[in-house]
Amino acid sequence: MPSYVNPDKCDGCKALDKTACQHICPNDLMVLNKETMKAFNRDVSMCWECYNCVKICPTQAVEVRGYADFVPLGASVTPLRSTDSIMWTVKFRNGNLKRFKFPIRTTAEGSAVPDGGWKSDGDLNSPALFTEPASLGLPAVYSIKH
Ligand code: SF4
Ligand code: SF4
Repeated sequence: MPSYVNPDKCDGCKALDKTACQHICPNDLMVLNKETMKAFNRDVSMCWECYNCVKICPTQAVEVRGYADFVPLGASVTPLRSTDSIMWTVKFRNGNLKRFKFPIRTTAEGSAVPDGGWKSDGDLNSPALFTEPASLGLPAVYSIKH
């Protein structure tokens, strides 16, 4: 049940160097047709339906056909991501609509500190983890000397 791009909604990410869907796909499946400026999934058999491209597309142009066991034929599940939440719109095949909104982060966008504020001694041969020994509250990580 791979992703597919609705060409009527895709604007090619306004000709940026790399489109959002190209940037996010862990399988490098999305490509941009430079003539039409529309993206497409180049190998649907390799798509693992992770929904990354669906969530990141700024124009909601990407959809994934859900598996029939949880999204019966004719129904759809569409996410709409904002900076702090995601809203899933579920459309049942009888036309009923339900929307579910969930928070997706506990910190402001762009405020995450990648190293968590911990400092590394830069020794890649050390048996210590990145945050150690500080996170252990020890002056050093002790190991058996050979
Ligand atoms: S992220 Fe959306 S708008 Fe941008 S190229 Fe991909 S499908 Fe098109
Ligand atoms: S659903 Fe995931 S694997 Fe499939 S094209 Fe989108 S980002 Fe790539």
